[in-house]
Amino acid sequence: KSAGFPLLKRIEEFDFTFQPSIDQTVIRDLATLRFIDNAENVVFLGPPGVGKTHLAIGLGVSAIEQGIPVLFINASVLIEQLKEAYHSDQLDRYLKKLIRPGLLIIDEIGYLPFDAQAAYCFFQLISRRYEQGSTIFTSNKSFGNWGEIFQDQVIAAALLDRILHHCRTVNIRGESYRMKDRKSHKLWV
Ligand code: ADP
Ligand code: MG
Repeated sequence: KSAGFPLLKRIEEFDFTFQPSIDQTVIRDLATLRFIDNAENVVFLGPPGVGKTHLAIGLGVSAIEQGIPVLFINASVLIEQLKEAYHSDQLDRYLKKLIRPGLLIIDEIGYLPFDAQAAYCFFQLISRRYEQGSTIFTSNKSFGNWGEIFQDQVIAAALLDRILHHCRTVNIRGESYRMKDRKSHKLWV
């Protein structure tokens, strides 16, 4: 039951008028969860505070309500756990746990770089989920900069090739919702 969401957010709570760069019909279509039946991926890209994690959790909560197993994991935690599993010869077992859920959500790709070992393990994960299950990714870095995240252009290209083959990318350009209420203070900072 515990999907690992850091907090509970619903799609219905999302204020689309605040973020006009998001095509509401795309999110409504994702909310039908057909992408999970089709083992398609979703990538939310954009700067901090624009609602990437909110939308990812919102879709995850809808999936849980439909009885679909969901696992949410922060990318830096994933990196740590992959490396730990690799070192203790448990990588296969850990990967199985990550491959099982119909929906896996990997939040905040790009804040921390993947070293060669983590990139290798991550590649195993993505290859095994490819066309088997849906993964939602959120990232503050556009695809052109994923080479930096994985510190290896070849791995990054191979990852993106698999991730993007069946994928809906939502590019969010806008202001941070976190700054919304601070706007009136702008003159003072
Ligand atoms: P990101 O993951 O892009 O950094 P979050 O999804 O964590 O941003 O959003 C930051 C906070 O603002 C969260 O509490 C989220 O629920 C809220 N939020 C962001 N965008 C909206 C929005 N358009 N409508 C309602 N709440 C929003
Ligand atoms: Mg976030």
